[in-house]
Parts: sequence; structure tokens; C-alpha cells
Amino acid sequence: MKWEENVRKVVPYVAGEQPNKKNMIKLNTNECPYPPAPGVVRAMKEMDYTALRLYPNPDVAPIVDCLAEYYHVKPSQVFVGVGSDDVISMAFLTFFHSGKPILFPDVTYSFYDVWANLYRIPFRQIPLTEDWQINPEDYKVENGGVIFPNPNAPTGLLQSLDTVEEIIQANRDVVVIVDEAYIDFGGESALKLIDKYDNLLVVQTFSKSRAMAGLRVGFCIGSEKLIGYLNDVKFSFNSYTMNMPSQALAVEAVKDDTYFKEVTGRIVATRERVKKELRGLGFTFPDSYANFVFASHKTVPAKEIFEALREADIYVRHWDKPRIENYLRITIGTDEEMDRLIAFLKEFLAKRAGQ
Ligand code: PMP
Repeated sequence: MKWEENVRKVVPYVAGEQPNKKNMIKLNTNECPYPPAPGVVRAMKEMDYTALRLYPNPDVAPIVDCLAEYYHVKPSQVFVGVGSDDVISMAFLTFFHSGKPILFPDVTYSFYDVWANLYRIPFRQIPLTEDWQINPEDYKVENGGVIFPNPNAPTGLLQSLDTVEEIIQANRDVVVIVDEAYIDFGGESALKLIDKYDNLLVVQTFSKSRAMAGLRVGFCIGSEKLIGYLNDVKFSFNSYTMNMPSQALAVEAVKDDTYFKEVTGRIVATRERVKKELRGLGFTFPDSYANFVFASHKTVPAKEIFEALREADIYVRHWDKPRIENYLRITIGTDEEMDRLIAFLKEFLAKRAGQ
């Protein structure tokens, strides 16, 4: 068919599966195992559904204002999107327009190369070191922009704020995006550097630490200039990105800081316990600062464990990709879910060793 020659052909991102089975343990997409803050649930119950006939606030002002207050920045420094995927995609479209290759790690969030391909942005994947670290020296080359997650995904490793700043400092002529989807689980945010670098964009999400993956809320904070350009592109794309219920509910999540700290604290405590248990079972992993562990077993191939877990309705993530094919990314669930995972692994590994 002739028309097919003019199609924008892309290889799409593959999201983790979303099965819906009773009694399954879902540890494959880094969701929060606890419900959203009580205020979110209350606001949802009390929502005036007749208001849904109106368009939502195009500026997403309720969330923007509330985040500006929480993070001590101006509302004009905050941009909200439909999940951080939307924010990052919009940022690629806005800032990576030089024609020069953008840089990101070889082992990282696997949506970056998909967006780059979609928008026809050239890119170079910089190999992480043997022990999965980002070497800032590798980012001191001519480029069209830089993006990396901190902590990185799927390794969970955190770079110090000094390393992050070294990369920004070396790249003052391009936009540097720090994707902090997992920063609330123990890392030091680059938000501290916002006032110092007008080319720094820090992206965060409500999907993990704020237990709202289903509402799709993400945001970024940067200089007024960066946010202004981002809004110009967003309003040239779709004015009403964020639906009305999500705008109202996200505000409630930010208001309840006590609940937020309690939930993230609990996940961190479970993570540290699970690390010990996994080590005891013969797993090795980079020392995660996120709400997941990226684990490899000393003797049993990851794919085999992945399939056995799946058979038992325990879902984790596995990629058949170079460097990481022998690893499983395991999201931290509730204590009870992790106990069931560990019990299964113990039995499975013992049985296999006895074969
Ligand atoms: N960045 C990273 C590193 C992620 O792992 C994810 C989750 N898949 C996202 C961004 C996007 O999350 P969301 O769109 O739910 O905010």
C-alpha cells in the first residue's frame, strides 16, 4: 500500500503487564502497595460529578499551586502532565531540538530511546560502568541534551548530588533532565539546584511514592524560562491534558505529608529487610534506593525464576536485553506480599538445587 510509505513508523515501549487476578502478587510496575492518602479517597467520594460537563483547568492550577507551595518555588516554575511519561515526552519535544545526539545511559528507563525515535531525535546511549554507575566524565562531550533517572531504573542505584551537579555543570548549553521518579525512597533531590541552573529540569511523579499510578499525574520543576517553553509546546498539543478528578485528587495527596512520609518510610523499611532475605537466598543486586530491587541469582538464570514466579501468579519484571538478561526487577510490595515471594523463592530454589 502506497500510503504506508508515509506512516510515522515506531517501535513502541512495552509496559509491564497489568493482570487482574485474585490473590496475585503484582511486583512488576513499581506501583505503591498501599492506598492513596485518606484525603484522596474522601475527596473522590465527595466529588461533584455534575462539574464533569465543564472542561478542566487547562493550567492544572490546583496541582501547580499546591506543588509550588510544597517545594518552595513559584507556580511559574512548575509544569504538570499526565504522568511523568507525558512530562518527559513533552520535554523531549520541547528541548531536544538541536539535531545533535542526546545522551542517556545504556541501562536505563526504556522509554527514552522510544521517545527519541518517535520525535526523530538522534541519541547516544552511554554505557554504565561495570558496577552500574554513571561516570560523569562520559557526559562531557558535545551533545543535544542529557537525561538520566536518579535513582536509575532498573538498577535502583543513586548518584550523589555532587555527581548530578557535575553533569549539569558540564552541560550548561543544553537542557539536562533528571528523572526523579523514585527519589522519595531515599535519595537527595536535584530540586536543590534549580535556582542555580536555568537549564535543569527535575521530573517527579505521583505514581510511586504517592500511590496514584491510576490517576496519571506527573510534574517537573525548573526555571521559569524552561517551564514557559514547555507550556508553549503543551498548549500547541492539547490544552486539557489533565482531567478534572485527577487535578482535585492530586492536591489531597500533597496535603497529607504525614501519610506520604509514613508510606515511603514503610516501603524503605521493607526494602531493606527484603535485601537481607534475598542475599540469604543467593541473590546479588546493586544497592537500591528505589521501591524495587534489581536482583540476579548466583546460579539460577533470571528467566527461569521469572517464569516460575509467573506460574505462581507472582509478577516481577524481566528484560531479554544485553547486560540485564540475568536480572529480575522486583517491586517492593507489602510485608506480607514480600514474605510470600521469599517463601516461594526459598522453596523453588531448594527444589531446583535438589534436582
Ligand atoms: N521514569 C521512570 C524512571 C520510570 O520508571 C517511570 C515508570 N514507568 C516513569 C518515569 C513514568 O511514570 P509515570 O508516567 O507513571 O509518572
